[in-house]
Amino acid sequence: MTTSWWRELQLAATASAVVFFSSCTSTPEPRVDPQLASEIEKIKAIDNHAHPVRPGSPPDNDFDALPVDHMEPYPDPIRTRPDSPIAAEARQRMSGVDKSNPAAVLDALGIDVMLANRVAMSPPVSEPRFRFVPYVDAFMYPLDNTSMMKDPDKKQFFPLEEKLLQRYYAECGIASKPATLDDYLNKVVRPTLERHKQAGALAEKFEMAYLRAIDIGNPSKADAEKAYAGHGDYKALQDYVFRFLAAESGRLGMAVHIHCIASVGGYFDIAGDNPLLLEPLLHDSAMRKTNFVLLHGGSPFIGEITAMLENPNVYLDFSQQTFDSYPRAVAANIRKWLEYEPEKVLYATDAYPFSKEIGWEEAGYIANKTAREALGIALTGMLRDEEISRDRALELARMVLRENARKLYGLQ
Ligand SMILES: [Zn+2]
Repeated sequence: MTTSWWRELQLAATASAVVFFSSCTSTPEPRVDPQLASEIEKIKAIDNHAHPVRPGSPPDNDFDALPVDHMEPYPDPIRTRPDSPIAAEARQRMSGVDKSNPAAVLDALGIDVMLANRVAMSPPVSEPRFRFVPYVDAFMYPLDNTSMMKDPDKKQFFPLEEKLLQRYYAECGIASKPATLDDYLNKVVRPTLERHKQAGALAEKFEMAYLRAIDIGNPSKADAEKAYAGHGDYKALQDYVFRFLAAESGRLGMAVHIHCIASVGGYFDIAGDNPLLLEPLLHDSAMRKTNFVLLHGGSPFIGEITAMLENPNVYLDFSQQTFDSYPRAVAANIRKWLEYEPEKVLYATDAYPFSKEIGWEEAGYIANKTAREALGIALTGMLRDEEISRDRALELARMVLRENARKLYGLQ
C-alpha cells in the first residue's frame, strides 16, 4: 500500500513536471501565420490614398490643399510622436532609399501604384506609378467665407481654399466669380473636372470634415441660386455644388473620395464627420452612378461605416488609422469589414510629409508595415477560427492590397 501510494505520487509528480516543462518551452503561436505573412509581404499593392511629394526644388506645396502645418499646435497621439519606436525604425529603414526617385520609394514599400492626392501632378510624381486624385472642396465655397471661419484652424483653411478656387478660375480663363450659378457650374466647375479627367484623375477628393460637417442636404436649385446671389442659406449652395460635383464625377467615371475619420487638430468636428451623415445622399438614386470611397475607415464610427458598406457604391480604405493605432487595433476593424463586405475594403497608406524627420517616405513605411501586419492578424484570426480556408485568406489579402482597387478604378 505504501509502495503503491509512493508510486502514484511519483507518477503525478512526473506528469505535472511534463505539463510544467512543456508550458515553459512551447512558443506561443505567432500573431500572423508565417506563410500568410510572407505572401502578404510579396503582394505589390495599389495604394488608394497618399500625398507623395516631388523631390528637389522649388519646394513642392501641391501635396495637400490644406497642409496640416497651418494648424494651431495640438497634442499628437503617442504612436505618431517623433520619438516613438516606429518612427525611429522608419527613419532607419528608409535612410538607404534613393529619395530623389519617388518610384524607388514605392519599390521599397512594395507598392506598385500610388493614388496621389495632390492639387496638381508634378513629374517624377507622375504616371504610370502615381495616379492623380485632385481636390474639389474649393468649389463649395465661392462666397465670402468669414462666417465659416469658426475656429483658428478654419481661419487658416478657408483662405487656402479661396486661393485654390482662384487658381481654378485662372485655369478656366475666368477673372473672378461668374454672375450666375449656371455660369459658375458650366464655365468653372464642370470644365475643371473634365480637365482633371483628361489629366488622368481616377477620383476627386473632399476634405470637407476639416471645413464643415459632412451632412449634405438636397436643396432646390432656386435656394442654391439665391445663396449664390448673396442672400440665402450658404449651406444650401454648398450642398447643391457638392451634389453637382459628385454627379459629374460619376458621369466622367471618377470616384469621389471623402475624408472620414476623427482627425488631426484641436478643433476637428468629430461628430460632424460621422459617416451616417452621408446616408441621405448615398440613398439618393441620382448618386448611384458615383462610387464613394470613405477614406481612413471612419474611426471611431466603425460599426456605422461597416453597416454602410451595404450601399452598392460605398467603399472604404484603412489609411491614417495605421499611424494612430497599433496593428492589433487596426486588425480588429479590418476583420469586421472582411467578414462583411470584403470586396469594398482597400489598402492605403496616406503617406504624408508630416515633418522634416517624418517625410512621406517614412510615413509610408509606418503605414505600410502596420497595414500589412494588421491584415495578417485579421486573416490569421479568421483562419484559426475556421471562418475561411488558407486559399481564401490569400485571396482576401490580394483583394485588399490590390484587386479591389484595380476593379474599382478600372486599372490594368
Ligand atoms: Zn490624406
